[in-house]
Formats: sequence, structure tokens, C-alpha cells
Amino acid sequence: MPSIDHLADRLSTYLGKDQVNLVRRAYFYAEQAHDGQRRRSGEAYVTHPLAVANILADMHMDHQSLMAAMLHDVIEDTGIAKEALCAQFGETVAELVDGVSKLTQMNFETKAEAQAENFQKMAMAMARDIRVILVKLADRLHNMRTLEVLSGEKRRRIAKETLEIYAPIANRLGMHNVRIEFEDLGFKAMYPMRSERIFQAVKRARGNRKELVTKIEQSLAHCLAVDGIEGDVSGRQKHLYGIYKKMRGKRRAFTEIMDVYAFRIVVDKVDTCYRVLGAVHNLYKPLPGRFKDYIAIPKANGYQSLHTTLFGMHGVPIEIQIRTREMEEMANNGIAAHWLYKSSDDEQPKGTHARARQWVKGVLEMQQRAGNSLEFIESVKIDLFPDEVYVFTPKGRIMELPKGSTAVDFAYAVHTDVGNSCIACRINRRLAPLSEPLQSGSTVEIVSAPGARPNPAWLNFVVTGKARTHIRHALKLQRRSESVSLGERLLNKVLNGFESSLDKIPHERVLLMLGEYRLEHIDDLLEDIGLGNRMAYVVARRLLATEGEQLPNPEGPLAIRGTEGLVLSYAKCCTPIPGDPIVGHLSAGKGMVVHLENCRNISEIRHNPEKCIQLSWAKDVTGEFNVELRVELEHQRGLIALLASSVNAADGNIEKISMDERDGRISVVQLVVSVHDRIHLARVIKKLRALAGVIRITRMRA
Ligand code: MN
Repeated sequence: MPSIDHLADRLSTYLGKDQVNLVRRAYFYAEQAHDGQRRRSGEAYVTHPLAVANILADMHMDHQSLMAAMLHDVIEDTGIAKEALCAQFGETVAELVDGVSKLTQMNFETKAEAQAENFQKMAMAMARDIRVILVKLADRLHNMRTLEVLSGEKRRRIAKETLEIYAPIANRLGMHNVRIEFEDLGFKAMYPMRSERIFQAVKRARGNRKELVTKIEQSLAHCLAVDGIEGDVSGRQKHLYGIYKKMRGKRRAFTEIMDVYAFRIVVDKVDTCYRVLGAVHNLYKPLPGRFKDYIAIPKANGYQSLHTTLFGMHGVPIEIQIRTREMEEMANNGIAAHWLYKSSDDEQPKGTHARARQWVKGVLEMQQRAGNSLEFIESVKIDLFPDEVYVFTPKGRIMELPKGSTAVDFAYAVHTDVGNSCIACRINRRLAPLSEPLQSGSTVEIVSAPGARPNPAWLNFVVTGKARTHIRHALKLQRRSESVSLGERLLNKVLNGFESSLDKIPHERVLLMLGEYRLEHIDDLLEDIGLGNRMAYVVARRLLATEGEQLPNPEGPLAIRGTEGLVLSYAKCCTPIPGDPIVGHLSAGKGMVVHLENCRNISEIRHNPEKCIQLSWAKDVTGEFNVELRVELEHQRGLIALLASSVNAADGNIEKISMDERDGRISVVQLVVSVHDRIHLARVIKKLRALAGVIRITRMRA
């Protein structure tokens, strides 16, 4: 019976004196708390937490994990509150104990439930502190080792849960040794007869094969020695549950499985692994198609090794695993190997979580190099880091983004230029909205177009600071360059009216003006004009002032192309379309607003050259323009459908439709239609007019 003194001795090989004393204190606390309680076997209850702590000591876990192991059943079984533990042993230990208790309280009743809900809860616990899981696994391991004393039903329930929940978790964390023990103990408890039969059969087979095993082992060792390679050759035994699963899953006969002779060769470094592979392939012929390089392409949980199968003497198949000592350690202990090697300098939970993270990152990197990380990401990483999503670039690179990130965030994470020129995206090869939140494991491809620009609407859904900053910056630049170019055109137009232009104005004159306005660069002035903060007419007059002429009103309108962007907008009151006579109203901060010449809203300022400017439509004007039509017609069934199809027939688009008045016989319908220009509008109206019962069509203006 191991005692606390015995454990303390073991701990002092890798923990400091103070830390060992803390573990001792936790032990005595637990002993007192569980006083009077006994295990089913009759032993004092405290022997169980002590045994759990011993298991964790095998893994060289830190003192906080060991303290939590000592106290892991205290909340659950003795009614001592978490707060009390917190006061006694600090918050970290109390949190660990609380986490383990919560896992213990979970009922994995049915398989479906266990898979869905409980896995998630467990994952949440993992995310907070991976040590909770390790303590829980150790707790379960000791319970499995002492399962015999329980009643049949309870035994089976625990065994089933172990096989379905805890063995897979151990596997996910790469803890091979723990997984194998879970499986064999679980198998034995669930199917005692089958387990016993396989056990006996293995024992018999082993006896028969002893001689051959020794022979093969010797010939392998000799082969290494000849090549001057140092390595440990050992025979490998398959575990019972593994054999059972193979018999069931692959429908193999027992003899078929047992006829394979399995060996492991452990060497010092990766390079040697491949040399050993060459050597053994030289010794016996390899079986085609059976060689697997898990060193270059590690398994999902980080497992690394070379696997090959050889035709041995008399044609017996020999399975060989070749790996380094480090890989062996990782293969056996997985995430726990970390504590085995690292000194426990950092006692903070952050430190250990960071180590767990590091382990995960390490495995992730291995997977990445192998170009096959999907499975791993899906299984472990999402659980460990619920606040992050992991997506792939089309080339298989992994991008880590905050939860809720969209394709636009992704695009900016790849490169600023990709973000700025992004127009659409494919998620898992399908076109998807740019605003869709990304899911881990998806492959995201950005469709970009040269000359494309960020959309202000993106600011409503991007999550990352990087995307936000770059979108804002790009919009600002865009607005500035558009304003500058509009300002230049406006100013030149006025100057042209005086038979001058910006190029013709002497440079000193311009500098003088900038000085007057306290501006640094001519672009600043042009931007101001473009934005409507300064009137081109006034600026032009000042520029030309030295000439001392009386300045007439400039003639000839400025042509609008429809591509001016953010600094030019169309008035909502009169909705001008190409072909309409128009004027531009310069309004401070908004840039130029295009109105119909006879729009009532500007009638008072129309002839003020400092506020309004004569405009015309350029020949190559492009875009869709909305106009509002009022249609009076006799009421009839399905008239909206009729109107819609007429507009459609003239290649128009209905943007909005509403029915205003109805006095029984006459209906009044308001239509907002988008058209290219007046000619197009005329075509639309002609089509509408052709409808039976239409009385009057009016284009609405303010
Ligand atoms: Mn327990």
C-alpha cells in the first residue's frame, strides 16, 4: 500500500520542497474530509485520491494537479464548498477540483447524448485548463483498475463510458498508454468471456512463437549492428481490445492477426530511422503497399513513426515500427509527455495552458507540414480554443481568425491587397456571401478583381481590427482621390470659362493662394472643392484676381459621367436621369448633388455661381438611375403583375411598387423604375401606355 510519504519521496525527484509540502497538506485535508468514508473494497477512501495522485506523479505532473488529485472528490463526496478549498489552497487548485467534479457529475446515459452534449461540456473544461482532463483521466484509470469490486451493472456502465468517452479522449490527446489500459480494462469488464478467450489464445500463441520471436529479434539487432546503427529492438504485443476490434472490424481470424510478428526499433534521431528502414528492407523483402511514413505525415494526434511490413524467414510477416526516443515518448504519453520533460518553473494556470497550447500548436505544425490537418483541427483544436476559427487557404495554409470572422477578415489577413481588391468569395468551393461568418475547417477562396475597391458596407460585419483599419484607410484614400479629381474638373471648368486653366496659372500664384487658405498642397485645395467645402468659382476668381479683369459667368456645363463615386450623388427629391437638364449643387461636406434644373428645392440658389454649377451628361454616361412614375389606371385583377411585365419587356427594373389610392374604379400605382436614360424611360412609358385601361402616366418630381 503506497503511503503519502512514499509519494512525497517520488515527488521530491522533480518538485521543490515547498511544492511537495503543499501536496502533503492537500493529502491530509482530503484524509480528514473523507474521514469515515470507505471504498467498496473496504479501504479508507483517501487511498483512492492518493492512487490518482500517484498516476499523475508517473507523468511528472505539477504540484497543483497533484493537489487537485488529492482533493478531487472532496466537493462531490463531502459537501465541502469550492470557496473553502479556494481559501485553503488557492483559486487554481479550487478551479481544478471544481472542473473535475463537474465532469464527474455528468451522466453519459445514452451514446448519442454522450457524444454531443457532454463532449462539448468536456471540451469547455479543456479550454479552461487541460489539467482538469488529465486529473479526470487519472481518476478514471484508478477506478478502472479497481473495477472488480463493483456490482455487474455498475461495472458495465463505467466500462462502457470509459470505452466511449475516456479512451477516445486519451487517444485525442495522444496518450497511448492510458488509452490502451482503458480499452483492455473496459473490454474485460464489458465482455469478460471474450476477453478471457482472447487472453488465453494470445498466451498460447506466444508460447509457440517464442523461439521464432527471439530469432527475428536477433536477426534485426544483428542487421543494425552490421550497419553500425545503435537502436533498441523489442517485440511488440498487441493489446487484447485491439485484437478484438480487428477481428470484428476487419473480420479477420484470430490466427491471421496473431501470425503477424510485431517489433519496434527505437533509435536516437530521425535520420537514423530512415537508415534503419533501409537496413531492414535489405534484410527482408518489404510487403508492397504496407510502408507508411508517419514521420513525414504524422497521425492526427501527433503520432510519428515509420511502419513497414516484411516477409521474414519462411515467409512470416513482420510488422516493424521505427521511431526516435522522443517520438516513442510522445506516442506513449501524448500531451502528458510535456510535463515529463519540462521543468515546472511556471506554476500559473496560464503557463500550463500555454504548454498545452504549445503541444497543440506543435502537433498542428507537424500536420501542416504534412498538409493534412483537417482531421486534427476538427478534433482537438476547436475544442481547446473556442474563441478562434481555423480556416484553410486554397493552398492549404491555415489561418487563425477570431470567432465570427468573415471572408473579408480572411482576405485582409492574407494580404491587404487581397482585402482591398476582394469582390466575392468561395467557401468550400461554393460562392458565399462575404458577410458569412466562417466555420473552422472550411476552405476559403477570395475572388478579387484588379481595380476593385473596399465597400463601406463591409464595416458592418468585419471582426478583425486589421480589416477595419484597412477598409477605413482605403475608403478615405478613395474619397480623397475622387474629391481631388472632381475638384480639379470643377476648378478647370470655371477657369476655362475665363480662357485659363490650372496649368496656365503661375506656380507662385498657386502657392500664394495655398498660403492664404493655410493649405499644404494643391490636392488639399482640390479636395476641398470636390467635397463642396469651397466653391470653385470663388477659388478661380482669386487665382485670376491679379489679372484684374471683371469675371463673367463661366459658360458651358461640366459633363457628368456617372462614375464620379462618393463625391457625386443624385438628389432624391427630383431623381434626375441622363438626358434631363441638370445642375449641380455644391453642398459642404457632401460633395456635389445633381438636381433637375427646374427642381424646386434649388430654385432660390440656382443662379448663384458659388453654390450651383451648370452640368451636362457626358456621352458615355453609365449606370442605372431610378425614376418615380405615377400610373393612373382602371382597376383590374392582377394589375401589378401586368405593370411589372410591361416594365420588364422594356428592359426596365422595378425597384419599388406601391398602390396609393383606389376609388373603386381607378387605381393609382407608384413605381420606382431603374433605367439608363431618358430614351430608355420613354420606352418603358410607351410599354406601360400600351396596357389596357391606363389613363395617365406621370413622372414624379419634387
Ligand atoms: Mn475519484
